[in-house]
Amino acid sequence: MRKAFIAGNWKMHKTVSEAVDLVTALKGALEGVEDCDVAVCPPFVALDPVRGSLEGSTIGLGAQNMHWEEEGAFTGAVSPTMLQGMCDYVILGHSERRTIFGETDEWINKKLHAALSHGLLPIVCVGENLEQNEAGETVAVCGGQVRAAFEDVAADRAVEVTIAYEPIWAIGTGVPAHGEDANDIIRRAIRDVLADLYDEDVAEAIRVQYGGSVKPHNVVEFLSQKEIDGALVGGASLKADDFSEIVKKGLAAHLGE
Ligand code: PEP
Repeated sequence: MRKAFIAGNWKMHKTVSEAVDLVTALKGALEGVEDCDVAVCPPFVALDPVRGSLEGSTIGLGAQNMHWEEEGAFTGAVSPTMLQGMCDYVILGHSERRTIFGETDEWINKKLHAALSHGLLPIVCVGENLEQNEAGETVAVCGGQVRAAFEDVAADRAVEVTIAYEPIWAIGTGVPAHGEDANDIIRRAIRDVLADLYDEDVAEAIRVQYGGSVKPHNVVEFLSQKEIDGALVGGASLKADDFSEIVKKGLAAHLGE
């Protein structure tokens, strides 16, 4: 059974002191929670202070993005070398990076290689927009994003990656997908594609999260699905009570309790 993995994407929220307060509250709220990987992904400037606050905790730390180059004239960018040793995870290809900042599949593939070669565990986001969903293109779009992201990634490294299926129309809208639909898309657009790229063992080993308006009241619908191993949580990760409730309920549902 794949271990549950629930991550909070704080996006461009929280000052450094607010970030430290949030993670301190979260540490207390999640004390004693085992058998689940949990991570928070604050803005870059809060990574080091949050890391300090997380000392002695099992909560992991992730960045929300990075460049693929180690250094250079890339104003405003942060490199894998800078994140190495600072965090455990890095989110790659979030739909806001793809749509607002114009990130391409090719860039995400370069970032994936760079993350893996710097000891960072990538969370690769894929997902269709509303138009693509309504045109019946979801499996083709998400499957294509998976193929492009994993190009030339060896099987023994691929299993270190987590994929987040995040339908764009569900992100920040309060309108989540249906659990069974998300499960079906993950089977057909992610696991079947991974089985084709690698083999069934790799396809079954890679963890897949659902993301898009996950809240305490709906997390069970997702984490009780066979193909869904966790959640990437945006808005509801900004409150310690909500996020810890999501982790506890989600873990119980994943374990079939
Ligand atoms: C996200 O940012 O990845 C996300 C899923 O946001 P929200 O939970 O707010 O929809």
